Amino acid sequence: LTTIIKDNKGNPKGMLATIRDITERKEAINELERSNKELQSFAYITSHDLQEPLRSIASYAQLLQRRYEGKLDSDADDFIDFMVAGATRMKDQIQGLLDYSRVGTHGEEFNKFNAGDALNIALSNLKSSIDEYDADVNPDPLPDIVADESQITRVFQNLISNALKFRREGIQPKIHVSAQNKDDEYIFSVQDNGIGIEEQYNDRIFEVFKRLHAIGEYEGAGIGLAIVKRIIERHGGRLWVESEFGVGSTFYFSIPAKDVK
Ligand code: ADP
Repeated sequence: LTTIIKDNKGNPKGMLATIRDITERKEAINELERSNKELQSFAYITSHDLQEPLRSIASYAQLLQRRYEGKLDSDADDFIDFMVAGATRMKDQIQGLLDYSRVGTHGEEFNKFNAGDALNIALSNLKSSIDEYDADVNPDPLPDIVADESQITRVFQNLISNALKFRREGIQPKIHVSAQNKDDEYIFSVQDNGIGIEEQYNDRIFEVFKRLHAIGEYEGAGIGLAIVKRIIERHGGRLWVESEFGVGSTFYFSIPAKDVK
């Protein structure tokens, strides 16, 4: 940036070009920020406004199902069932999109709290599934962090509910939550002994609506991990997974530790 190219009279002609470059880059970044904001509000508005017409499709489909099941022919019963299932799935997806776009717009201030408290709230929200599957959830003591507590609670809740959902048949689900201080960040881990993930999907599972199983095999809109990723990125951290297919997965996320002392 400091290089000044001079012409043969000693005038700095290269400097002008550099200034123009910086201005263009700044404009490009502004443009990117503007279009990101626009995209976010677009996602928010569409998902919010789509809820109303969808609600009416879903409720009339359910009304048809209740009043006319068995009174038309069996094809009609099937069609109505597909309609109800489709509308229900779409409702979950739209709600998921809305939650996803709210990560940026409805985030709270960062405060100092103990990550173990956030984990405990998540565990109490998941108590009925933990009891139902007789899961052994084993957390290490966790550090104090500076973050959005309700979003970090959500992170634990999404990761642990996945660990419960993608458990292996016939063995007790075991979930270990831990944290390590490395350089200027904390690295949290949520480890399970579930079905695992094939390596080629290790990045794609964090995309919106990406699921690795057929509809009906496991419940879910495929947006839980995308929300986790967005929350962690809002905190300046990273999210990744290490997994062995058929053995289990460990999800890691980092949170900068610089403000905690
Ligand atoms: P959902 O759980 O609603 O399908 P997610 O975004 O939470 O969506 O997860 C995306 C996909 O990643 C899941 O459908 C599943 O295939 C895979 N996955 C997530 N967590 C785990 C886990 N703990 N063990 C195995 N697979 C997982």
